[in-house]
Amino acid sequence: MVIFAILLVFSLGAFCWRLYPILVRIRDSKPEPGFAMTHWPRRLWIFFWEVLLQSKVIAQRPLPGVAHALVFWGFLAFGLVTLDHFARGFGIGFLSHDGGFSRFYFAFAALFGFGTAVGIAGLFVRRFIVQPRWLGEKVSVESGFIALLIFVLMVTYLVDWWMAGQAGQINWWIHTLALLTFLPMIPHTKHLHLVLSPFAILAVRDGFSQIPPLDGDEDFGMVTGKDITQISALQAYSCVECGRCTEHCPAFITGKELNPKEIILGLRSYLNENGAQAEVPLFGAHLSQEAVFQCTTCGACEFQCPVGIQHLPVIIGLRRGATNTGEWGDEYGSKLFRNLEKNGNPLGLGTAERDKFVARASLPLFDGSQEYCLWLGCMGSMDARGREIVEALVRVMRHLNATFGVLKKEKCTGDAARRLGNDLAFGELAQQNLDTMKPFRGEGKKFKLISICPHCVRTIQQDWKEIGEPPEIEHHSQFLARHEHLLPAAVEKESIVYHDPCYLGRYQNIYDEPRQVVAGSASELIEAPRNRERSFCCGAGGGLVFLGEESGTRVNETRARELAETGAKTIAAACPFCHTMFQAALTQIDLHKPALKDIAELAAARLPVLN
Ligand code: SF4
Ligand code: SF4
Repeated sequence: MVIFAILLVFSLGAFCWRLYPILVRIRDSKPEPGFAMTHWPRRLWIFFWEVLLQSKVIAQRPLPGVAHALVFWGFLAFGLVTLDHFARGFGIGFLSHDGGFSRFYFAFAALFGFGTAVGIAGLFVRRFIVQPRWLGEKVSVESGFIALLIFVLMVTYLVDWWMAGQAGQINWWIHTLALLTFLPMIPHTKHLHLVLSPFAILAVRDGFSQIPPLDGDEDFGMVTGKDITQISALQAYSCVECGRCTEHCPAFITGKELNPKEIILGLRSYLNENGAQAEVPLFGAHLSQEAVFQCTTCGACEFQCPVGIQHLPVIIGLRRGATNTGEWGDEYGSKLFRNLEKNGNPLGLGTAERDKFVARASLPLFDGSQEYCLWLGCMGSMDARGREIVEALVRVMRHLNATFGVLKKEKCTGDAARRLGNDLAFGELAQQNLDTMKPFRGEGKKFKLISICPHCVRTIQQDWKEIGEPPEIEHHSQFLARHEHLLPAAVEKESIVYHDPCYLGRYQNIYDEPRQVVAGSASELIEAPRNRERSFCCGAGGGLVFLGEESGTRVNETRARELAETGAKTIAAACPFCHTMFQAALTQIDLHKPALKDIAELAAARLPVLN
């Protein structure tokens, strides 16, 4: 009993001694601006659904997910058994092998013990033998040893029923030593997520891919350790190193330096090396500026992460730091910011270009009496393909007698500036647009925007909240789906594959509406291998469409190839940026070249031809 007591104190002491500095680093990090632990029912639901039921773990990777869930549920089931095991070491065990409840509970735990043993063995084989490349090249010996300890714990528990006398004693000691060795290893391995990830999931920031506000004029984004927030630190220490984010990252898949898992682990390594509030620059040994500017902000990483880690606040925080301190010296980036500042659009064209298009397409000005204010966006007003999409939507709106008008002046929503870390340019553009809309808004006035661009919709709806009250806005897929039954049937139908734009799907959860529109024109609606929540980016987001050449394979070509390989006659998209990217990609790939159409063009093609 004395030996057991000493070992127990030593094990618990070592666990606390190793965990304490980690908790101190999280506590001493900067409080997250604009964050509050509100919306408790939602938080508890996510906790129940994602932690207790392991829904996300299983949904995204069914086989390893179930293996992990078995281990997790086994841990829960073993809580009482483990307490009893320790108590028995002091001769005060409270679960007797003869009692009715105890017998039931031991049998219940044995069931989970078996499941956990199978699960951990499966995970071991996957990590150490199969070794998918997103798990990383480094194989952690400690993690392997922990898996072995868990396996030993389960086996010794299961055989305990059949062991008596000295053999039973030896088995008890093997079980005990495995348990006491396991505990102090937790804080220094990926198994720390056992302790921290439930808190990380409970304290997740509200909303998908939200960019936290800056904390006043002195906040330039993430420059040094002083800028790491408590939520980011907690998330960095909760990473389970599963590589799901990496597996779905378009930048990583196409051979770029960016690896979202390494961004999170880089933050953790920085904190381990320098502590919280350090003045050492964040870019350096653990984080690379080049990598963070390769991010398309597609959100696949955040969507996949089973422990609620939010990569984009870190990636955009780091971009902010580099942009605001002048450390990011990209030629294309500088040109983009100059265009936004001087012309109010990323293409650098004068406002006369927009005026010419408005006049040529006979678009009425919005005067407050129409149902919709048609937001043209930079692509819709200045890009040739974007203009064609707007004109198609206008034809459909006219056919449906939906009244609309356009603003006399419009500036970029600030999407690219925001995601490249230039909050000053973003704020000015958002404010100028809000001022333009002001006369049409207010009590008793109806003002609703409609846009062909998911980036505009997202930026206006969510990001503008930091600047003022955003107007109501919907994407044209929602309008078209609502009116789909009023459109004539398509005369000619074709096989169509629909590409889910990241900013419409993952960002706004709009998957069915565009499909409803496409279905009206399709003889067969083909799904791409990666579709809906798992859709693969076109490569344009996060301002990258305006930056220079990519390293590695091009993201747009990878996706265009995948879509073309479905054999569909037409690729349908619902975002002008996707169109630009695919249009360029289709000229490069050596497969059959499907036509490329926006959903508005598919809907317009169903209308009677005007003479
Ligand atoms: S947002 Fe997309 S591109 Fe950026 S790191 Fe995540 S998965 Fe990769
Ligand atoms: S950030 Fe999330 S998805 Fe990526 S490796 Fe860590 S736990 Fe897995």
